[in-house]
Amino acid sequence: GDVLLEVTGLRVDYGDGPNAVHAVDGVDLVLRRGEVLGVAGESGSGKSTLAYAITRLLRPPGQVVAGEIRYWPTSAGPVDVLKMSDAELRAFRWAQLAIVFQSAMNSLNPVLRLREQLGDALIDHGPGMTPGQRQKRIAEVMTMVGLPTDRADAYPHELSGGMRQRALIAMALVLEPDILVLDEPTTALDVVVQRQILTKIMNLREQLGFAVVFITHDLSLLIEVADRIAVMYAGRIIETSTAKQLYEAPRHPYSDGLLHSFPLLHGPRRVLTGIPGAPPDLRLRSAGCAFQPRCTQAMAACTTTIPLLSATNLPTEAPDHQVACLLYQDGEGR
Ligand code: SF4
Ligand code: MG
Repeated sequence: GDVLLEVTGLRVDYGDGPNAVHAVDGVDLVLRRGEVLGVAGESGSGKSTLAYAITRLLRPPGQVVAGEIRYWPTSAGPVDVLKMSDAELRAFRWAQLAIVFQSAMNSLNPVLRLREQLGDALIDHGPGMTPGQRQKRIAEVMTMVGLPTDRADAYPHELSGGMRQRALIAMALVLEPDILVLDEPTTALDVVVQRQILTKIMNLREQLGFAVVFITHDLSLLIEVADRIAVMYAGRIIETSTAKQLYEAPRHPYSDGLLHSFPLLHGPRRVLTGIPGAPPDLRLRSAGCAFQPRCTQAMAACTTTIPLLSATNLPTEAPDHQVACLLYQDGEGR
């Protein structure tokens, strides 16, 4: 009942024919109202493509070749995001779902002062507001994200990297969306600023109740801030569970490797081993598990059977935990 966004059987290709890259290769995903869903994976795992598809920002040669994306507004039945008209899409993207991408400079208009950009968003997509109400909302949202209101008349280049990122978050939240999609939102910033901004976003989420899809290669960061996590590899989700369960008992050999690839900010020191080898060529469809060439636990069946995401053979006390690995599967893959 509390499902906000549901992705079913999503496939995204870049290009077509024999050279098509299968960037997202059959993803099922549910985002619940108010939760933080983390999507983790190395670069090339399909996680950014997934974000572009969900937000309908995919550009040719990228194309959704199968699947559905349904959004449930509070007041009505589900809406098919992939079938929205351009007008519906513009409204959806501001008022219901907002996006913060990696590079703040790309998404702020360099020739407009902050006040103008925030004001334009309110005029174009917001409820009818008087100029006075708009100025009040601009000051409110700037204060909310920790931007001094006296910076409202600054141009983007006059702001520090951290302030630009806060400005982007202000833009994203100005119309109070249900969903905030973050794609590596702070990686370009230094660690201290990264941390401040993430803490700010998570506090705002508590106050305002929006849901977050947080996409990053840094699994240890997700362990700290996400409620649930989906780990992607070669265009598929290979493990999903609560953040706590994934930290305490990662089941997929790739998740385990990824957890040991980053220092944890809190908790015991770990030996960082990383994962030798590189992700597969996404033009080729493997007959078996895509992780097999890098997997230290691979068996004969792993070269011939594609493991399906399932809860089979996992402890019953973790009902949300699913893994796509033959170590945990009795049945047939595909
Ligand atoms: Fe490793 Fe096989 Fe599991 Fe793939 S299915 S992760 S190769 S054990
Ligand atoms: Mg990316």
